[in-house]
Amino acid sequence: MKKNITRFSILASFFLLFSCNDNNKLTEVVEVPLPTKEEKITIGSPNDVKADPGSFELTKLPFTYDGLSPALRSLTLETHYSKHYLSYTNNLNKEIVSTEFENMPIEDILKKMPLSNLKLRQNAGGYYNHTLYFNILTPKEQTPKDTLAGSINKEFGSFNNLTNQFKGQAEKQFGSGWVWLVVDRYGKLQITTTEDQDNPLMKNALIPGTPILGIDLWEHAYYLDYQNRKGSYIDAFYGHINWEKVNEYYVEALKKVKKV
Ligand code: MN
Repeated sequence: MKKNITRFSILASFFLLFSCNDNNKLTEVVEVPLPTKEEKITIGSPNDVKADPGSFELTKLPFTYDGLSPALRSLTLETHYSKHYLSYTNNLNKEIVSTEFENMPIEDILKKMPLSNLKLRQNAGGYYNHTLYFNILTPKEQTPKDTLAGSINKEFGSFNNLTNQFKGQAEKQFGSGWVWLVVDRYGKLQITTTEDQDNPLMKNALIPGTPILGIDLWEHAYYLDYQNRKGSYIDAFYGHINWEKVNEYYVEALKKVKKV
C-alpha cells in the first residue's frame, strides 16, 4: 500500500482569474512560470521492509507510519524504521555470520561480546535498542497497570515521580544515547542512561539490568519533527508508551531475577 503526499501548484488558478478579466482591459501582464515538477514524498508501508537474509529480522511495527502522528510524523517513523533500524539489523547479520554469535539470542550476544569489537557492539546494540523502542510505542495514550503499576508506586512513590525522573534524565542526556527503565539484578526498577548504541545488558553498564523501556535520544529519532526542541520530543514519546507491553517485559524480567 502506497500513500502519496503530493503538493500541486495553484498557479493555474491565477491564469484563469486574469483571463476572465479580458473585457476590462487588464494591462498588467504577469509571467507565471509553470511548475517544473511536482514535489512528491512517498511514504511506504512498514510491512514491505525486510532485512537481508540472516539471523535477525526486524520486529513488526505494530502500527502504520502515521500511527503516532502528529507526535511523531510518518516521515520520521519511516526514516527511523526503514533506514536506521534496517541498517543496524543488516549490519548485525553481516557481522555475526560464521562467528560464535551467529545462532545466539541477541541478549547473550550483548552480554558476551567484547566491547572492543566496535562494529558488533554498535550494530547489536542498535538492533536490540530499536527493536525494544518500536515494540513499546502505541498510538493511544496509556498509563501503567497491573504488576508494574504497583511496583512503580512502591519504588518511585508515584507514576508522576517516575515520569519526572525519566524525563529529567532524558533532558540531561548529552549527545546521542538512550535513557532506560530497567529491572536490575535485584529485581528493582531503575532509571539509567547509556551512550551511543550501548545498553544496560553490556559489560560497561553503570546499572546493569534488563531494559523494559527505552527512549532513543539520537537526533535522527526526532529532528525532522522537533529540531532542537528535544523536550517536546520526550513529551511526545512519553505520551505514546505502550505500558501494557512494558508490563509484559517487566513480568518476564522479574522471572529471570528470581531464577538466579
Ligand atoms: Mn534510532
